[in-house]
Amino acid sequence: MKIVHLASELAPIAKVGGLADAVYGLCKSLIAKKQEIEVILPKYDILNLDPIDNLQIIQKNFPSIFKGQKTLNTIWKGCVDKIPVLFIESNDPAGLFNRSTVYGCKDDPLRFLYFCCTALDFLMKRGAPPDLVHLHDWHTASAAFLLKRESIPTVFTIHNLAYQGHCSLETFEKVGWKTEEINEFKDTEYPDTYSLLKAGILFADHITTVSPSYAKEIFKTNPLQEILKTHQKKLTGILNGIDFTYWNPKTDSLLPFHFHLQQLTQNPPFLKGKEKVKNYLRKRFNLRESQSTVVSSITRLVPQKGPKLIQAALSHTLKKGGQFILLGSTFDEEMRTVFTHLKQKLAHNRNVHMELTYNEELAHLVYAGSDLFVAPSLFEPCGLTPLIAMRYGTVPLVRQTGGMKDTVFEGKNGFSFITPTPAAIHKALNRALACWASHPKRWRALMKKGMEEDFSWSKSADAYLKIYRNLYRELLSVSKRIT
Ligand code: ADP
Repeated sequence: MKIVHLASELAPIAKVGGLADAVYGLCKSLIAKKQEIEVILPKYDILNLDPIDNLQIIQKNFPSIFKGQKTLNTIWKGCVDKIPVLFIESNDPAGLFNRSTVYGCKDDPLRFLYFCCTALDFLMKRGAPPDLVHLHDWHTASAAFLLKRESIPTVFTIHNLAYQGHCSLETFEKVGWKTEEINEFKDTEYPDTYSLLKAGILFADHITTVSPSYAKEIFKTNPLQEILKTHQKKLTGILNGIDFTYWNPKTDSLLPFHFHLQQLTQNPPFLKGKEKVKNYLRKRFNLRESQSTVVSSITRLVPQKGPKLIQAALSHTLKKGGQFILLGSTFDEEMRTVFTHLKQKLAHNRNVHMELTYNEELAHLVYAGSDLFVAPSLFEPCGLTPLIAMRYGTVPLVRQTGGMKDTVFEGKNGFSFITPTPAAIHKALNRALACWASHPKRWRALMKKGMEEDFSWSKSADAYLKIYRNLYRELLSVSKRIT
């Protein structure tokens, strides 16, 4: 099938979080399954251009509507790890994609609505339209509405329901939408506000969420639960995978030393490369050379990720004689202040290192060089970080929520807790640290189980393919009945 993905992120060229990994991993797996795939992305000024092959302009002066007037775009194409990608560059003086950031601008809904309209217009005018369009999160959800007119089936994946893309009527007017069209997108909570995500729920032919547990949780305590219930029949929970080639401790080009699962079955069972990465990390971060447990967390520092519980885990680890590494990207002022303050307070403690930024290379090193990985999220649609940690022989300690309920099991491949309180995470940490210190055999069994898990994309991509094919067949049978 010919499938186009419309997305706001794609690893490794435009990554903020798991959405980028998911689009990359799914597309690569679909290509391996002989599907014709294309991704369309905004041409952000902060694109990481290095991994893009053959980047070239394919059309200049492609027109679209912005603020009631004709404006021009440049359409680019390139290839990221064999994934064909089209880029929409807006030439408007507002510099819609030249903001030195992917998200976080006041006019984000307008930026992504504009992106959707222009991308779809280009797709339709280019000829040979796709068999199906796959949309991701609120940024591209509105395309489900636009594609109804074209009779192209759509799949809409909710990677995170917490972000809806709220906007005003004016936003739609600016991209030339007729205002009577959008009444249905009205938000359920706030008057005179529209939800772009709602457009995806209402108009997509199929909706997926990124884990089976999250697919159940979204029917509880969220403002869209009633609408979701109405559309429950077209909803499936499919666990995200991780790209096993990209995340591979045996070959990872960002690691100075390598290791692999088979080394845990040899005599003695020992991941020498992992130990070497750990010591490399200690040197690089000026941590004390010691025999203590290295506990880490790699996360966007946002309320969803349980920042108070991360702080509780950090201080408890130090109290118990462990070392803690935090790699956390901060987006809002308040979170940056809180964690910068903590970092200053602990500046002279050689058992802790905090890196308050997004850094792909460091992420690989920290996954590989840690013993225990904490992810105490308040909610978590899928949670890729514990899956990556397991791939690198790092035992996860998670809060049982969303996708982490489907992937991490106490005593089998990790540790978990339920109540989102410091006391609960302290208890779970006590169990994990005691196991690491006193039961090395049991610890190795946890590492081995995690490294053996198959969280690759192949199975999940098959599940998506099944949905695509069903929708395509339905469309064919409807059009046959009409003709
Ligand atoms: P979310 O999508 O909510 O951010 P996930 O756990 O699903 O959470 O995915 C997070 C992805 O982003 C992982 O690939 C993780 O390695 C990466 N990541 C998160 N924070 C950072 C950071 N500060 N530096 C580098 N990579 C990060």
